[in-house]
Amino acid sequence: TAAIIDGKSIADEIMLRISCEVRRMKESIGKVPGLAVILVGQRRDSQTYVRNKIKACEEAGIKSLITELPDNCEDDEVLNALSRFNKEPSVHGILVQLPLPQHLNVGKILDLLSLEKDVDGFHPLNMGNLAMRGREPLFIPCTPKGCIELLIRSGLEIMGKKAVVIGRSNIVGLPTSLLLQRHHATVSIVHAFTRNPEQITCEADIVVAAAGVPNLVRGNWLKPGAVVIDVGTNPIEDPGCEHGYRLTGDVCYEEAVRVASAITPVPGGVGPMTIAMLLSNTLDSAKRAYDFP
Ligand code: NAD
Repeated sequence: TAAIIDGKSIADEIMLRISCEVRRMKESIGKVPGLAVILVGQRRDSQTYVRNKIKACEEAGIKSLITELPDNCEDDEVLNALSRFNKEPSVHGILVQLPLPQHLNVGKILDLLSLEKDVDGFHPLNMGNLAMRGREPLFIPCTPKGCIELLIRSGLEIMGKKAVVIGRSNIVGLPTSLLLQRHHATVSIVHAFTRNPEQITCEADIVVAAAGVPNLVRGNWLKPGAVVIDVGTNPIEDPGCEHGYRLTGDVCYEEAVRVASAITPVPGGVGPMTIAMLLSNTLDSAKRAYDFP
């Protein structure tokens, strides 16, 4: 059976290093990194994500600010909050929690976000630099970066491997496919319009599943010995669980664990890494702002 890639413990290690670095910064220049979050609306999942991010900041000694806006707010209110944080020198990272309510103009909002504070890496210039050879983005999106870190820290080779990314969203699938290419994998992308996706995935050495469809990837979709990174975080109603639901991935874990050579669990795989990478990006940004080595 597959080795379990323990995202929680790898993320804890990274968080520990970040806390030490934050302390070192505070002791030598009297400054700490700052993260500002803009949360629009009442989505339960977004609220949970934001709460976890803020809690992680506190644990690491990173200052956090949050602006909450109502579901029915206008573009201008978000843009105002954003430009305040853009100008605030103690804020080094700004995060607009996505998805935003349908009526808001995400493109316009992301365009305004200061490139130097785009710790989510969603600004089109950061994304463009990620895509182009010979250019370096200031920030790499957190979930994709977390996936790659899991592979590297587990000693799993990427160079020359066949990778399949399932999903092509701006926040996960697309940047993950770009990042895998940067690490010299041969990348195929499977999405909602792909015919016979199982024929494509079963050739892959590395499968990254980010479709948001519970149990989409079955055991017979996988080549024996494949490495499986399951980004899916899908709530499934379960009255027996604490909040009335439990989280399940995009991969049918019980089947995949018998075919794969390594696999991430849900929860406890990619999720904790996303937060660790966000704090890491925020620390890097503060170091850059203060020219702190
Ligand atoms: P999305 O809905 O924006 O995009 C889903 C993508 O999957 C689309 O490109 C679509 O074409 C593709 N897709 C949908 N159905 C498919 C199918 N049947 N076969 C193949 N492809 C299909 O979702 P997203 O924001 O990219 O998130 C994907 C999943 O990752 C969700 O479960 C989300 O909760 C999870 N997620 C987890 C983290 C984390 O930190 N662990 C972070 C972000 C998102």
